[in-house]
Amino acid sequence: MPPVPDTPVPDTSEIDLDALRARYARERDRRIRPDGALQYRSAAGEFGYYAKDPYTPRTEREPLTDTVEVLVIGGGFGGLVTGARLRQAGVDSIRMTDEAGDFGGTWYWNRYPGIHCDIESYSYMPLLEEVGYVPKWRYAPGEEIRRHAVAIAETFGLYRDALFHTRVTGLNWDEQTDTWVVETDRGDRMRARFVITSSGTLTQPKLPGIPGIETFRGHTFHTSRWDYGYTGGDQDGGLTGLADKRVAVVGTGATGVQVVPHLARDAEHLYVFQRTPSTVDVRDNRPTDPEWAASLRPGWQRERMENFLAVVSGEQVETDLTQDGWTSTARLQRKMISGALDTSVSAEERERIDEIIDAQKMNQIRARVDEVVDDPETAELLKPWYRYMCKRPCFSDHYLQAFNRPDVTLVDTADHGGITRMTEDAVVVGETEYPVDCVVFATGFEVGVSGVLSGTLPVRGRGGQDLLASWSSGPRTLHGFYSNGFPNLFHLGALQNANSVNFTHILLEQAEHIAAVVAEARKTGARVVEPSREATEAWARTVRETAHDNSAFQAECTPGYYNLEGAGLPGGFSYSPGPVAFHRLLARWRAESMHEVLEPRP
Ligand code: NDP
Repeated sequence: MPPVPDTPVPDTSEIDLDALRARYARERDRRIRPDGALQYRSAAGEFGYYAKDPYTPRTEREPLTDTVEVLVIGGGFGGLVTGARLRQAGVDSIRMTDEAGDFGGTWYWNRYPGIHCDIESYSYMPLLEEVGYVPKWRYAPGEEIRRHAVAIAETFGLYRDALFHTRVTGLNWDEQTDTWVVETDRGDRMRARFVITSSGTLTQPKLPGIPGIETFRGHTFHTSRWDYGYTGGDQDGGLTGLADKRVAVVGTGATGVQVVPHLARDAEHLYVFQRTPSTVDVRDNRPTDPEWAASLRPGWQRERMENFLAVVSGEQVETDLTQDGWTSTARLQRKMISGALDTSVSAEERERIDEIIDAQKMNQIRARVDEVVDDPETAELLKPWYRYMCKRPCFSDHYLQAFNRPDVTLVDTADHGGITRMTEDAVVVGETEYPVDCVVFATGFEVGVSGVLSGTLPVRGRGGQDLLASWSSGPRTLHGFYSNGFPNLFHLGALQNANSVNFTHILLEQAEHIAAVVAEARKTGARVVEPSREATEAWARTVRETAHDNSAFQAECTPGYYNLEGAGLPGGFSYSPGPVAFHRLLARWRAESMHEVLEPRP
């Protein structure tokens, strides 16, 4: 389908774009820190306890030396849907591995009170029809999503041979046997014919670089390792352990926005330490209508997912089945996420229209703060002054409301670059001390530190060559999946392919592609799957040549992980025409060119 044409030029009479630009620049400048992404601390070494698994006890086991046909690294939705599709393709010998104590990935680790997925559950939770499940809520709570991950594993027999609390530490290609030798932190030295990596992007919790953080003697934890032993309650709230506690929450991103209403309700007093406010739009969550659920016909989920993907990717569609805060802001998402551009106007005119629509949206978000928050000073501090996609948009019908409570204090830290320091019993901003019993870090995750791309999982392919070294002048893959010199190794994720806010859909398409290639290799008796060097060079060129240049947009944003804390992200990592175009391209390749990666060729 062609990109969105003929966007009506919006009315600009109410908007002073020059004044807005100046305000946005001021707000960015006062937040830029010279130490950029280095300001954070890893939850490792002396802070390693922040990343420990609080949910499942680790059990000892003997190291393994056996051989499986497929080994999947990562038991989140990417790994799960790959396992499911491989099973359906007739693969019997599948081993799933994960550092967590069970399946679920991000939904295994993140169990904080209030956790929900901000994408509609009917599109986000994969394989609903195969598992025979209809979510109970339009935007599902985390526990329902985690249980669905477990249900996928059960439905497709993925617990068999699975290894939890196991980190893969090395992959070495053995030319003699055409297998990967897989090493782990449990002393395993097993073999697999095919290896598929799906180790996620936002996995390692990060801590703010606050001077004196290690001196605090009260209780602390990160939101992705919630300590219910201390707080009481569960993901639905009821944190009775906090009734006599002064609690600090650091961070007001997508996690902070979901957790604050519960902490506000249950703590004796809550201090919310904010550096940059999020955009907080209407959520409008509601239970699934049983009549609607009963009316669903086979194929309904695929249709809904594809429709959502097309709408948010800027494709022209006749109906918007979802109609929510994502589908109504599709055009603005092009600033950070790949998709079709409106080519009915010149690039300059497109940018002008984008900026006006953006200003209207942000004015509406700021007006909502005034409508909801009683105290004008607090309302002023909660208003976000940047363009819409500078940070992950948030949705809540309870967050802004929490600041009307007498037992909630908003502490703005923007002029100090964040919290100034911590002492034995207090959080300090400027010269003001806030004595607290507990500090909850809602400070997010290190970006891209897990797995192959980060170097924490070294890969040695043909002739012992190192994968990352072979990418020293930029990644070289075919469609993001595989590389020359590294046979039978597939990657899922966000590398040289197209992304979307509904990441599970992206992962599902990738899983189906990989399963189709593996099935073809098995059917035709191919020994290895490996693209030629020319094919990977050509794909890198395609990605480069089709890239949308969003560097000017990123440079004007307040800092955050979306723009590498103000430094800007390198281009060339994604296929900018977007996921719908990319999926079409993959389908054509499967029909016409799959044999090119099989050796010997069928
Ligand atoms: P983020 O990285 O988005 O937010 C971290 C927060 O910590 C920011 O508000 C940041 O402020 C603040 N912070 C960091 N250092 C300091 C400091 N020294 N002093 C004061 N404040 C500080 O992490 P989240 O966990 O909120 O979200 C991460 C991602 O996880 C999201 O973007 C989203 O992709 C995903 N997510 C998705 C959800 C969903 O529903 N699908 C729900 C929750 C998370 P500043 O902005 O100024 O840097």
